[in-house]
Amino acid sequence: MHKNLEDIHGREVSYMRISVTDRCNLRCTYCAGEGLEFIPHPNILRYEEILELMGMARNLGVRKIRFTGGEPFVRKGFADFMVTAAERYGDLNLCVTTNATLIGDHVERLAAAGIKRVNISLDSLDPEKFKAITGRDHYAVVRENIDRCLAANMTLKINAVAMKGVNDDELGDFIEFARTHPVDFRFIEFMPVGLETGWDDSRVWTAAEILSEARPFAELVPVTAKGARRHGPARMYEIEGGLGRIGLISPYSDHFCSTCNRLRITSDGNLRTCLFSDKVYRLRPALRHPALGVEKVERIIRLAGRNKPIGNELLRKMRAADHGVCKTRMASIGG
Ligand code: SAM
Repeated sequence: MHKNLEDIHGREVSYMRISVTDRCNLRCTYCAGEGLEFIPHPNILRYEEILELMGMARNLGVRKIRFTGGEPFVRKGFADFMVTAAERYGDLNLCVTTNATLIGDHVERLAAAGIKRVNISLDSLDPEKFKAITGRDHYAVVRENIDRCLAANMTLKINAVAMKGVNDDELGDFIEFARTHPVDFRFIEFMPVGLETGWDDSRVWTAAEILSEARPFAELVPVTAKGARRHGPARMYEIEGGLGRIGLISPYSDHFCSTCNRLRITSDGNLRTCLFSDKVYRLRPALRHPALGVEKVERIIRLAGRNKPIGNELLRKMRAADHGVCKTRMASIGG
């Protein structure tokens, strides 16, 4: 067993996000938009390759793996794959991020396999606005599937990208949703990722603004108690008398680099060490090379992990450059 992966800044790298596809059935304005070109199928990692990669990551000390996309459930056989992954790697914390349009029929089986931590993206509680943001009329099915997940005792985090002029008028409704549902409802600041997203810093609804604008709607009590479980990048708040909680994730205004422990694998097998970096480490050729195999792939992961950058610094440089945003869109990185 190797020593667990640690980067040059002393951060333990123990969390991997694996995108299983760059395809999605929604066209969220801030993420993918319309008119996309997708990665050709032969370049997408096969499920067996992803399972191999998971084993290598585990050898290096990765303890948590989140599957994402694109939309993971648009890939054929994804629910079966998750069940197989859970059987093979019962010691890993496996979870998934989804838009919840297609998870409905798989909920019970996933829960039975122990996959109970699901992050769901939901940027509006207004069906018309949902359609305007996502380009698709799927609000009702998403709400229904959230209820199905809750009925199966899944632990849900609902994530909304916080955008001025888009969903900032719904703050009271979002808080009411969290008050009446046992979920963590988290706001994620709109990030400058993807050239085609029309990102502009005047559209960033910051965590600090959300917190101050929330005051008329609810008393939010910070979850700071000693021994409280870690909440990843989110600052969490209890709602007085509520079932759920509110979370604020501030990758733009106050990036959480010092605690960042993640690596990302794109669906075509590129490893990325930071959302704000376009640098990639290519794993697919080594994974597919019969003579290179495990040792080479692990060496690349180790090298990449060691050199994980500080996103804040990259963000500052990127903002100073002409384009000002990370070039690759989130749908292909795997958000
Ligand atoms: N299809 C899945 C979903 O909808 O959750 C997984 C992929 S999606 C790219 C993952 C997350 O990235 C979502 O929560 C989405 O809202 C977020 N995201 C995409 N583009 C973003 C941006 N520019 N700023 C902030 N969050 C973004």
